[in-house]
Order: sequence, then structure tokens, then C-alpha cells
Amino acid sequence: MPMPMPLSRLFGLLAAGLLALPATAVSPPAAPSPSDPAAPLTPAALAEARALRERALNDDTAYELIRSLTTEVGPRLAGSPGDARAVEWAVRNLKALGFANVRAEPVTVPRWIRGEARAEIVAPWPQTLMVAALGGSVATPEGGLEAEVVPVTSLDDLKAQPRERIAGRIVFFTGRMARSQDGSGYGKTVPPRGTGAAEAAKLGAVAMVMRSAGTSSGRTPHTGAQRVANGIPPIPALALSNPDGDMLERQLATGQPVRLRLVNTSRWDGEAQSANVIGEIPGRSHKDEVILLGAHLDSWDLGTGAHDDGSGVAIVTAAAKLIGDLKQRPKRTLRVVLYANEEFGLSGGKAYAAAYQGAIDKHVLGLESDLGAFRPFGLSARVGPDRLPLVRAMQSVLEPLGVAYTGTEASGGADLGPLRELGMPVMDLDTDAIPYFDLHHTAEDTFDKVDPALVRQNVAAFAAIAYLAAEAEGGFGRLPVAPKPAEQPKP
Ligand SMILES: [Zn+2]
Repeated sequence: MPMPMPLSRLFGLLAAGLLALPATAVSPPAAPSPSDPAAPLTPAALAEARALRERALNDDTAYELIRSLTTEVGPRLAGSPGDARAVEWAVRNLKALGFANVRAEPVTVPRWIRGEARAEIVAPWPQTLMVAALGGSVATPEGGLEAEVVPVTSLDDLKAQPRERIAGRIVFFTGRMARSQDGSGYGKTVPPRGTGAAEAAKLGAVAMVMRSAGTSSGRTPHTGAQRVANGIPPIPALALSNPDGDMLERQLATGQPVRLRLVNTSRWDGEAQSANVIGEIPGRSHKDEVILLGAHLDSWDLGTGAHDDGSGVAIVTAAAKLIGDLKQRPKRTLRVVLYANEEFGLSGGKAYAAAYQGAIDKHVLGLESDLGAFRPFGLSARVGPDRLPLVRAMQSVLEPLGVAYTGTEASGGADLGPLRELGMPVMDLDTDAIPYFDLHHTAEDTFDKVDPALVRQNVAAFAAIAYLAAEAEGGFGRLPVAPKPAEQPKP
């Protein structure tokens, strides 16, 4: 059955404020029957895809790439030394795996230095809280700041407050993320992270703290990018772990004034050079037609970005490598694009779209892996309506992996957003977001949380889909070109 677009697929765009909702969404056509003839795919192509799927289920190339990236590079915050090492790592590994046309295309990224963040309740009952600065947070004044806390449940709740209640105080966003397989709780909880500090600053707040936009019950706060409103001096913005958010709420619930003391030393440090790293498996006949497999090379800095998005980097790379090893390669070229700086404003996604917009019609289909390496359960596709029988034929190859057809509301992932807006068809492999949001953007996103069997399942799905997309006669149609989103302020 067609399902609404999983909000998990939109979180990056929503968080970056680049997308309200898919503006060009049309009511989905009824799912075609699986018995429709899949003329664009020959029986031989379907058999090859099934064989690829089985080979991937016995191949640990992706798992070993995640081990290597997390161990030898580690955190890869845009503009950091780890980011530069990641670019070198990716170029070296794509070459070693036999990719053609391996290149690092320069991308300018903002650089932000985390520094140290501390928080304590000073009254009524002193307690230390576990916090992390949100990406882009400014520092507290030297020596820190102390003020009374005002809880609000949401951005709307904040905006409804009189200025005198907020001015001179620390705003606390209490919203708690709900668990769900499609990750839709994230899209509902994350807006204060993006603009909460800026909205609080408008009302004269001296700082903002929020309950983490994640489901972890550990004392590991969730970081992530925020945006700064033009013209308003920014205020420090910190995330509390869920148990620490509970502590603050319990003290507030007594009705006594609660005072917080915050120290944060993070700062902006200009710009840096990073790169989109690209490698290709050239097609056997339609070399100029591209199936784009995306993931992002950067990560947050609290963990080692094992799931976000080390797993995606590894999954798309290993899937393309398996196809490159075939005796007969598919017709079209597979292009792996490992994007720079997804987390801090989609620098790589925007740079790629700007560089390749003249060749957008040669981008036949795009897929991105950016929801960790968890259990795949769905395949959705935003393609020309007459191409849905082809999608169903492709999905049938994933049935043994437990992957059902989940409709037409695919997003393609954050990095592919600018290409989708230019009309490139996209597919999503939907994976279980419940464990993902326990780890996402926290210090717990580390290699030990990666299950090799689940990595293999993801590679199997990507390899089969990418192969069939590269082989299918006639492509996937084109999408309506979306109106250009308004220019966003720099993070
Ligand atoms: Zn990501």
C-alpha cells in the first residue's frame, strides 16, 4: 500500500530548513500489480540481480569499510582534520576497489569548533547535567552565564510567550521524540534544534537548552545543526540528554524557580576546503547515463559516525564494487558520490547539483543510504507513473530480504534533494529507524553498534536495485522541476 513519505527521509532537509514538505507531491497512483509484465528488464537481468543479492549476503566489504573509516579516520566534522583525512581515505579506497574516474571535487564548507560545554542546575537542588553544544552554537560569555529556566513545549509555545517571561532567561524546549519505524518522530521534535535559539533570542533569551532530538535513554546528548536568524545576535544553544532533560523537568515541576549555569566555548572559524569524492563503474553501453548512489562522508564529532553515515558510505561503495566485479557490467554507469558536509548545510549536495545541472537529464535515478545499517523493510520510488511496473519488478527481487513496496513518496535523501528538485527520479530503501535514533548524532554512534548481517542486507538491496536501474530499458521518466527554495542564511 502506498504510504505517506517517511518523515525520516526528510529530516535532513527539514532540519536544514530547505524543505517544508514535497511541494510537487501528487496523489500516488495505485500500486501496479506485481503480475504486470516488467518489459524493461529481461529474465537474464533479473537473474543477475538475484545472484548479486545472494553474493552480497556473503560479502563483508562494507563492514570492513566501516571498520576502516571509524578506526583510521574517526569523527569527520566538516572542515576538521578528520574531514580532510576522510577525503583522502575515500579516494584511496575507491581506487583500491577498482573504481574508475576517482576524483575529489572541491567543496567549501563552514568550520565550527566545538570547544567544551558544561551545565549545572544551581537552584533549587544543584546537579550536573550532561549537555552537548548544538552545531553552530556561539560561546557563553567568559566565565559562563547563569539565569532562570523557562520551559516551553514547542516553537509555537515559545512564540506565544510574552517577551517579559523570556527576556533574560534560558529557554528550555521540553519536546520528547517518539520512537517509530519510519523515524517520523524526528521531524516532529527537531524544529527547535534548527531555529529554537534564534526564536528565543528574538524574545531576549540569554541561552537555549533543549531535550535531545533522539530516543536514547542514555546520558548521551544529541547534537545537530541549527540555523541562525539574520540580524539577531545569536545565543548559546545546548542539548540535554534525555535523563538530564527529565531531571530539569522534575525540578521545574516543584514550582520553584530553577536556575541553570552554562559554560560553552564553541565558535565559528571561517571556512575550509573539503570535497565530494566520486568514483564510477562505467556502463557497458550507455556510459553517459548515470545511476547515482549517494552517501555523506562527513559526520558529527561526538561519536565516529559509524552509522551516520559511515554505513551509507560503505553500503553504496560495496554495492557498486560488487557490480563492477561482474563479467558483464550493466548498460549505464554507476556513480558513487560521497558528499561533503551534509550535516552543516548540505554543502556537497548543493555543489554537486550546481556542477552537474547541465547533465541532469543524464541522471537516470538517484538513491542515497543515510539512515544507518538497520533492517530494510521497504522500497519507495518517486519516478514517472508509467515506470511503476518496473519498480515493482525491482522490488520483487528484494522480497527475500523482507522488502515490500512502500509507495511513491520517496525523498532520495538529503544530499540528493537538490537533484530531485531538478527532476531526477529517486528511490528510497526504507530501513528500521527505531535503533537509528538511539544513536544518531550522539557519542554512541560507534562501530560496535554495527551489525555485519544488517550491513550485508543493505548492500544486497542496494546492489540489486542499482544493477537493475543501470540495466533497465527506458529509464525512470522525469519529475516536475520544483520551484527554487528561498536562499537560506548560512548556518
Ligand atoms: Zn546522515
